[in-house]
Amino acid sequence: MARAEAERLAKSVPREPYYAGRWGVVRSAAAFDVVDPVTERCLATVAEAGPVEVDEAVCAARSAVADGTWGRIDGAGRGRLLNRVADLLEARSEEFAALESLDVGKPWFEPHAIDLPQAVRTFRHFAGWADKVTGRSIPTPGYMGRATVSYTVREPAGVVAAITPWNSPTMIAAWKVAPALAAGCAVILKPPEDAPLTSLLLASLIEEAGFPLGAFGVLPGRGPVTGQLLVDHPGVDKITFTGSPETGHKVAVAAASGFRRTTLELGGKSPQIVFADADLDAAADGVAVGIFANQGEVCAAGSRILVARAVYEDIVKRLVTRAHSVRLGDPFDDGTTMGALISARHRDRVSRYIAAGLAEGARLVTGGGQPRRAGYFVEPTLFADATNAMTIAREEIFGPVGTIIAFDSDDEAVAIANDCDYALAATVWTSDISRAHTVAGKIRAGAVAVNGWSPLDPALPWGGCRLSGHGRDLGWAGIEANTEEKTVTVVL
Ligand code: NAD
Repeated sequence: MARAEAERLAKSVPREPYYAGRWGVVRSAAAFDVVDPVTERCLATVAEAGPVEVDEAVCAARSAVADGTWGRIDGAGRGRLLNRVADLLEARSEEFAALESLDVGKPWFEPHAIDLPQAVRTFRHFAGWADKVTGRSIPTPGYMGRATVSYTVREPAGVVAAITPWNSPTMIAAWKVAPALAAGCAVILKPPEDAPLTSLLLASLIEEAGFPLGAFGVLPGRGPVTGQLLVDHPGVDKITFTGSPETGHKVAVAAASGFRRTTLELGGKSPQIVFADADLDAAADGVAVGIFANQGEVCAAGSRILVARAVYEDIVKRLVTRAHSVRLGDPFDDGTTMGALISARHRDRVSRYIAAGLAEGARLVTGGGQPRRAGYFVEPTLFADATNAMTIAREEIFGPVGTIIAFDSDDEAVAIANDCDYALAATVWTSDISRAHTVAGKIRAGAVAVNGWSPLDPALPWGGCRLSGHGRDLGWAGIEANTEEKTVTVVL
């Protein structure tokens, strides 16, 4: 789809909250502009959900789940509805992909190849789980000499608030919405204010699929306003959040009142470890994708590149060549392989990290600048000869900036990989199967990939620990995260 067509599409997307089966605001007069990161022009002005809208949406969700029409729909029925969403999303993938490129600034082929197929598969995957949310039969020794039968049932957690970031809004919305709906929860999605358009369009598809009133809502708005109102609302039973650790902390504090459940998918500072026995060409390709895909605005970005000393200069050279082949430009142009960062604020943040790398003595081997043109672009950037103590090795940059560090032994590689506040993902490049399993076993991370970068699949649990958060989206873990297990014991 051409840019002009995508811009027209952006004007036709709903731009209001949706809940209780209707679009619009009741009282809120606030609105916010959505800015195109490439042209710096306003794409749309979206109405913000305020206290009245948040309260009404939560009340509608509560009654849908408690005794309303949603609570009465069985697993097979929920599966049918989720499959319908998958079909509608698949049929309109082209529009979603174009809108995502426009809104986020990512090259057109990325949402085509990754975000949209993943989102469709996620709805299908959880459509399959919906009628398999089973309990367990647990043998027990009896009660006062009488036999007992004990079993468990999994019940919906209740009303789920899903809060998503701007880097991959459609895919991450699917990760949160699909498991919660499959489990029988009602979901209120609070999309990112920097890129809310695909989430609003997704809401219109969920409406079209025929979910009962209150089962799903979307509340656009700024984080400190709509997001905070939603997580503070006592009618929300569970909060599933993807975003920064700073906001994750605020969400966790809000959830602590009422001891409400949370799944927190926060950032990462993921190591990509290249051993000397790796296929160096494949490793260089994979590592470059790991740090430059989606402008580096990826929670699992492999931003710490740990390389065996014996192949260090070789890998640095290969990565510099890969960086030089990156084409910054308009996401809708054919040759573009890297788009713009999400906002001026974020571009300036990434630039401050580049300045910190230089000030702390890392060797800038490519990039570091900003092209002279409109848009929030930053060149693909690599620092060599870095240490793990440097700011660029410790803090999440969330941009196209890789930090290359040498190691001398397997133990040292693992020690550097684990010397990190985050623990989300890691990548190991080696042709030695024993080394692959040994190192994968020793790395502290929610997900380790060997000879590939962060393969995504809705069947695989996704999440991390430490500063990367807690809990898992996706797979059976996604169902567990949205249900309560109740034990029933019958004395015979
Ligand atoms: P962010 O924390 O600024 O915002 C995330 C969401 O939280 C947005 O919808 C925002 O409006 C909302 N929010 C902000 N303040 C809030 C508040 N007080 N109460 C409730 N909600 C609030 O993050 P971001 O800048 O949108 O995204 C970048 C971050 O997300 C990075 O740290 C990145 O690593 C992380 N991320 C993690 C994963 C993962 O799966 N672990 C995936 C993608 C992004």
